Amino acid sequence: MRLIAIILFSVMWKSIFPQNDPYLDARNRMVDEQISGRGITDNKTLMAMRKVQRHLFVPEEYKSQAYNDYPLPIGYGQTISQPYIVAYMTETVIPEKNKTALEIGTGSGYQAAVLAEIVDSVYTIEIVPELADESAARLKMLGYSNIKVKSGDGYNGWPEHAPFDIILVTAAAGEIPKPLINQLAENGRLVIPVGETGAVQELILLVKKKGKIEKKRLTFVRFVPFKRD
Ligand code: SAH
Repeated sequence: MRLIAIILFSVMWKSIFPQNDPYLDARNRMVDEQISGRGITDNKTLMAMRKVQRHLFVPEEYKSQAYNDYPLPIGYGQTISQPYIVAYMTETVIPEKNKTALEIGTGSGYQAAVLAEIVDSVYTIEIVPELADESAARLKMLGYSNIKVKSGDGYNGWPEHAPFDIILVTAAAGEIPKPLINQLAENGRLVIPVGETGAVQELILLVKKKGKIEKKRLTFVRFVPFKRD
């Protein structure tokens, strides 16, 4: 009798709340194995990585690979970063509810969405106009009213909304753009891959303390090039 009640209840539950995320298990596995399993401990970052549906940020033909441990093409010669790197960069900038973030290199909008799950507002700039448009539409459709996407060269940052507590650059630059350093708030954190394109780059963290910049080398990464208009 009790078994029948349980079965009936679960059938009713599923008809009222249909499973609308076929990748839920894959995403949780990704977080357990690739993210938390590899040393990411910040709860806010882990929560955001569990929530944001990465498969909605990749082209249809790559959906089934969306939770695998590598970058994927998003068109125009660009890529969505490897999930672990997104989590690593997110944790490194210490995201918190009251913070404002700037991202250079919107790409698919995935990193912006992960940040926007945690911080107050995200400003993101993308140099490929088609990607800027696609991401803006996608983020709007997903309900991220706290993300503003701008099309253009992010070298000069977004002075109207500066200073930023967090600046994430997701394309590899030969040097750190000065305007971005200037737009960093006191105690702000900037993460950027620096080095030659086509080779391995170094992920660098800058922290502004009493107006001075502290620099830390984090790890080696491989990003698409930071371009100039
Ligand atoms: N953060 C993205 C991945 C970015 S790939 C995501 O989550 O999907 C890097 C992106 O940086 C590419 O889309 C590239 O077009 C963009 N980019 C390169 N140089 C840029 C510049 N100067 N200003 C803004 N975007 C730039």
